[in-house]
Amino acid sequence: MRRVAVLGGGMAGLAAAWEIRQSGGAQAVVLEAGTTFGGKLRSEAQPGFVLEEGPDSFLVRKPAAVTLIRELGIEEELVPITASGQGSAIYSGGRLHPIPPGLMLGLPTEVWPFLRSGLLTTGAKLRALGDLFAGRDDADGDQPLGPFVARRVGRQVVQRLVEPLLSGIYAGDVAAMSTQATFPQLLELARRDGSLLRGARRMRRKATRPAEHGAPMFMSLRHGLGLLPQALCAGLPDEWLQPMSPVAAVRSAGDGYAVVLADGREIEAEGVVVALPAPAAAHVLKEIAPKTALALFSIPYASLAVAALAFAPEDVPGPLRGSGFLVPRDAGLLITACTYVVNKWPHESEGGVLLRCYLGRANESPLAHSDQELLGSVREDLRRVLGIAAEPRLARIFRWPDGMPQYTVGHPARVATARDGLAQHPRIRLCGAAYDGVGIPDVIRQGREAAAAVLGALADKRDPSMEEERTRQD
Ligand SMILES: Cc1cc2nc3c(=O)[nH]c(=O)nc-3n(C[C@H](O)[C@H](O)[C@H](O)COP(=O)(O)OP(=O)(O)OC[C@H]3O[C@@H](n4cnc5c(N)ncnc54)[C@H](O)[C@@H]3O)c2cc1C
Repeated sequence: MRRVAVLGGGMAGLAAAWEIRQSGGAQAVVLEAGTTFGGKLRSEAQPGFVLEEGPDSFLVRKPAAVTLIRELGIEEELVPITASGQGSAIYSGGRLHPIPPGLMLGLPTEVWPFLRSGLLTTGAKLRALGDLFAGRDDADGDQPLGPFVARRVGRQVVQRLVEPLLSGIYAGDVAAMSTQATFPQLLELARRDGSLLRGARRMRRKATRPAEHGAPMFMSLRHGLGLLPQALCAGLPDEWLQPMSPVAAVRSAGDGYAVVLADGREIEAEGVVVALPAPAAAHVLKEIAPKTALALFSIPYASLAVAALAFAPEDVPGPLRGSGFLVPRDAGLLITACTYVVNKWPHESEGGVLLRCYLGRANESPLAHSDQELLGSVREDLRRVLGIAAEPRLARIFRWPDGMPQYTVGHPARVATARDGLAQHPRIRLCGAAYDGVGIPDVIRQGREAAAAVLGALADKRDPSMEEERTRQD
């Protein structure tokens, strides 16, 4: 039977292998550098707590994750975000401000809650309303998100509202983030509605929001998201899974490919799904597709850390409201956000009040500091914002060096160049967080699509004219 090598055993790679398994038309071998599979999805069970080391939930609106969970038969593990874990706050001027209701893409769509919010100065609110009269923006091509939105609604709205809400997903810097790759709807609103605020209001009215139909916005798994790669591995043949197998290169070999491992072993395959972070993908492809490698090397990454701290309930003064809070860049804290796990995912926090803090973003790596130093700063931030001064019952730091690809201006063009560089190799496909979305559903979708494309190209291989045609179409 034909064999496909899947490079990288994160969610994108495992989803690709699952797609191949479901098709029944080929075998796969998943080559993973680490000792375990799942990449960023790792959960640690502690007495009374589930600690998520990387992601803690996924968006339901994008169906790929829920579909896969159903296919794996673990849907009874799905847990929706609780009602008490919805709505968050922004820390500014030394206090927490509830995010005004009615936001869409970080923009206000309801006048009164926006005008009443203490988050912005009166001048900034009036400046934002100027967007209603600014007219169409026909600027072509990609734009840095922060300056683009600031031109329309003013800098303070960007700093205190748009930036914390929209850049958090990417741990990005709004001054450099690609609007086209992250929130292309904003470009459309300015073009079509002539006003971001008016356009956001129209979008909100039109949107069929899952919450309004009884479906939650976010979901997680009862025993932690780490269960998802575990279930995937259990659903794949053992011999397909090869941990501790870092890939060094992919070379052409006869009619197919030789995947060269760091220890010199070679694995033959007729197709290859590359599900690696961009720098690793660039390394392994630099001989066979130098143009692709060059484009991939230019995708920057941000290093992050997650701090999990649990406190005794009596040590937390005052009620914690909503899902947590976000921290604008200029607020003077180390943490960029804090999730009240106890409210959002109470099943993970039965042993006390579990808080999860995020550290690091583009150009602000926290990783030069020791765990002790990071915990000290996180505790100081929690004391300032929430008044928690007590010793935590549990405190852990999880480090993610180069953990998040940065979709900076020009990202869609870089990805197109990377894919273009493989035009002569329709049986090699790229997928994962570096390309078309960083969320769990995004990388699952990409992994499955990449595997389906490789299988399609393998089928065409029997008929050379079809392979030529597919190469031309791509
Ligand atoms: C702290 C944090 C919080 C997040 N929170 C959320 C969230 O709440 N919701 C959400 O939807 N998303 C979240 N994300 C994003 C999401 O988790 C990731 O984008 C996604 O899991 C990436 O999957 P991937 O398969 O593309 O890459 P990875 O998970 O990075 O997998 C790539 C794999 O390739 C392996 N590898 C590297 N080099 C080689 C090599 N040479 N040979 C073989 N294998 C190699 C790695 O060991 C790794 O296992 C978060 C990410 C982080 C870092």
